[in-house]
Amino acid sequence: MLSNGVDALTHLQSLGPTLPDVLHRSRQAGVSTWIFASETPDDWLLTHEAARVNGGIAVIGVHPWIAATLTDGEQVPLFKQLEEMPLAGIGEVGLDALHARGPDSSVRWERQRAALIAQLRIAKIKRVPVILHCVRAYPEILRILEREAPLSGMLHAWNGPESALQAVLDLGLYVSIGPVVLQKSAEKLRSSLHRIPPDRLLLETDSPSMAPPGILVGEPRYLPHVAQAVADARREPLEALWKQCAENARRLWPTLPRR
Ligand SMILES: [Zn+2]
Repeated sequence: MLSNGVDALTHLQSLGPTLPDVLHRSRQAGVSTWIFASETPDDWLLTHEAARVNGGIAVIGVHPWIAATLTDGEQVPLFKQLEEMPLAGIGEVGLDALHARGPDSSVRWERQRAALIAQLRIAKIKRVPVILHCVRAYPEILRILEREAPLSGMLHAWNGPESALQAVLDLGLYVSIGPVVLQKSAEKLRSSLHRIPPDRLLLETDSPSMAPPGILVGEPRYLPHVAQAVADARREPLEALWKQCAENARRLWPTLPRR
């Protein structure tokens, strides 16, 4: 029986009245602590409140998908707000090449870069970890992270190229595995998992947006599915991996409540 698991990344604040039931099912599945990460500046307060009421922590930031749509003049007041807010971490921040396409691609890309750099600096001032989102942008994000180092944080929903993994580890970052690992097509990801040191590994559901194959709405109760796939790929016993990943999450996020 799994217990005391930590879901290293959720967006559960968006669930509204169904949230208590989802968290109840989560606890029954052995997942009793959650990181609530904001999706847009519109849900910052909601994220905060969901974490406070339910005993998790709030990680707040301007996601690269949103950053791509905001001018400099729109970004700056948000960063000011971030600097003043009580928060456990900054995120998701990062770069997403899929959200920098079309006729204004260079503007959208530049806005993402500017938002990432500004928020990494806020994280350093506030001495909090960052949650990084990176899609098809590893060379560029690594250049920025190396320049802004030292930083603490995690790469969420890791599915990056094997060539980037060592650089991520050298930066001292944690690597978080989500439901993508359950997809049939994720053979390459599974076969690279043994290269992540045990003390740098995290597990997440990225729920409700992400879910295991065949399931419509993600929930933290599916974290054991992710853990099983990772344990199988690494040829490790599930219980040991589960415990290690929860310890890792508590090392990265020392303010996580104990339950
Ligand atoms: Zn993300």
